[in-house]
Amino acid sequence: MGLKLSYSLYDLSFKHPFRIAHVTRSHTPSVFIKLEYENHCGYGEATLPPYVEEGRESVVLFLNKLVLPKQIDLSHPFSFLLYLHSIEGNYFAKAAIDMAFHDLWGKLMDRPVYELFDLDQNNTPLCTYTLGMGNESELIEKLNDADKFDVIKVKLGGTNDREMIACIQKHSNKSICVDVNQGWKDKEQAIEMMEWLALKKILFVEQPLPKENWEDMIWLKERSALPLYADESVQGMSDLKKCSKVFDGVNIKLMKCGGLFKAKQMIEFANQNKLSVLMGCMSESSCGVSAAAQLTPLCQWADLDGPLLINNDPFQGIEYGEKGKIKLKAENGIGVRIKDKGMFN
Ligand code: MG
Repeated sequence: MGLKLSYSLYDLSFKHPFRIAHVTRSHTPSVFIKLEYENHCGYGEATLPPYVEEGRESVVLFLNKLVLPKQIDLSHPFSFLLYLHSIEGNYFAKAAIDMAFHDLWGKLMDRPVYELFDLDQNNTPLCTYTLGMGNESELIEKLNDADKFDVIKVKLGGTNDREMIACIQKHSNKSICVDVNQGWKDKEQAIEMMEWLALKKILFVEQPLPKENWEDMIWLKERSALPLYADESVQGMSDLKKCSKVFDGVNIKLMKCGGLFKAKQMIEFANQNKLSVLMGCMSESSCGVSAAAQLTPLCQWADLDGPLLINNDPFQGIEYGEKGKIKLKAENGIGVRIKDKGMFN
């Protein structure tokens, strides 16, 4: 028997409606996949926010066309991944397959993926806890949820950015980084806000301007007292190569680049080119973020709080230690267990 692929359509529901610069949503459509081989199962996930090009239909189409190998050659496990990543586009679908394949590889090798990558499980960064936009009482409630995290990530780019920061600093002394999700309209507004945020001792600012506006980002970086991180501006390696003059850091997500294989190459490139790395996620379940966590010993920050923001996680896996430090367990593969046992029936 060769590899067997099954999938399950799923809606991940947010605990609180999730509001960022352009949109509010209550849930995120996902496709979970299972790869079976020799009595082992590898799991993967494609979680598809409404603002991305791919959707559940395109993911299912991709899965139905994919040619799976008859056998996995453990001495050359990457030959399948090289084929997978030679297919154009379909990054979310590829990420799901890529992480399931890594999970399976780890289980067949009887080792966690971070160990197969020769990474130190203790050398993990702090994870940030994300606060969507909200009024004072909503923010206080979310701050309570963030109790054990030292660093919070605040979504800005709305109409009350200064009030939100002032409110959070009134009720908490946690460190803050901000994510604007392209929400500031021009470089003048951006520099004014960044000067104000620098006075508030913010750690860094993610994606202040529209993703294609590289020229104004260079202008901003020359004047900014705060580190600038790219998110929407960087999908894969070709975008990343444009980054070192424009940004100080980059948010790398498995869903954007197509999985662990590509993410690892990008993180290594960033580390060699003095770009800080924040390992991010697309409000995924424990499946996707546990896969991403395997690479966090190579990163300065993690933003892998997706499972904490949803109330119907079908997996368990990632854990957060003191101050929100990512905990990598000694479990094989990507370190997840399925909770919803009926989801692939
Ligand atoms: Mg972001």
